Amino acid sequence: MPEVAPHVVHRRLSRAVGRAVTDFGMIEEGDRIMVAVSGGKDSYTMLHLLRELVRKAPVAFSLHVVNIDQGHPGFPVERLTSYMEREGYDFRVIREDTYSIVKEKIPAGKTFCSLCSRLRRGILYRVAHELGCNVIALGHHRDDILQTLLLNLLFAGQLAAMPPKLSADEGRLLVIRPLVYCAEEDILAFSQAEQFPILPCDLCGSQSDLQRKVVGEMISDWERKRPGTKAVMLAALQNVRPSHLLDQRLWSTLGLRVAPPAESGEVEPGGVDPERLIPEALLVRRAPGGGEATSA
Ligand code: SF4
Repeated sequence: MPEVAPHVVHRRLSRAVGRAVTDFGMIEEGDRIMVAVSGGKDSYTMLHLLRELVRKAPVAFSLHVVNIDQGHPGFPVERLTSYMEREGYDFRVIREDTYSIVKEKIPAGKTFCSLCSRLRRGILYRVAHELGCNVIALGHHRDDILQTLLLNLLFAGQLAAMPPKLSADEGRLLVIRPLVYCAEEDILAFSQAEQFPILPCDLCGSQSDLQRKVVGEMISDWERKRPGTKAVMLAALQNVRPSHLLDQRLWSTLGLRVAPPAESGEVEPGGVDPERLIPEALLVRRAPGGGEATSA
């Protein structure tokens, strides 16, 4: 792929974040946003772009940066600390030894990630409350979202990606993902141009998530063979046709209803004829006796 100038990548990322924040109403006046930073390229990039947004957004909000030091041996937290000091962020390290817990609970050879993430999430929620923050920003980007979509489709029997915005902790917190429209290759290029002090992410010694890796390689392979595939997949997530899916729980929220079975009984037992999905509004307007009522 031809190299793109750093200022072009920067502009693309800024626009993508601005669009995500606007599209999903992620930030409101007075929000105190806790930015969870791991020391990887994604969270550095998110923090940098959110700070730019603080300066130019029409609403006032503040950023409070947190790193959870989970006790991984050799974690070079001082590199993160000196960067945050130099940049003048409101930053704190929260030390919680989840590493020992995970090592104790998970048998050798198994991946730690599920328990580790759950423990980290609990810590993030608690710390957000302690800091008086009402929003937590996470650095998942477009490629994470596409991978999750396929993982759910292929391994979990579920059609779902990642929510760009989620009400959490019984509605007391909002979790936002401002990088949802940002391409990973742009984030990588940006973090290299900015020379963020990236911290190693393999200190936990966990095996990488094999299924996620396989799915990631599948998507990258499609992208190589047909450039633009990732953009098309992201567009698909913004262009859902729920009535063309088979989840009956969606019908009521869509105002769709299955017409009563015809007397001829043409609907298969246990099945639904998609032709018979009709809008609730139309049913309401149907006059008693079967005749069509005029529109209200
Ligand atoms: S890779 Fe390591 S630190 Fe990251 S979630 Fe998995 S176990 Fe935790």
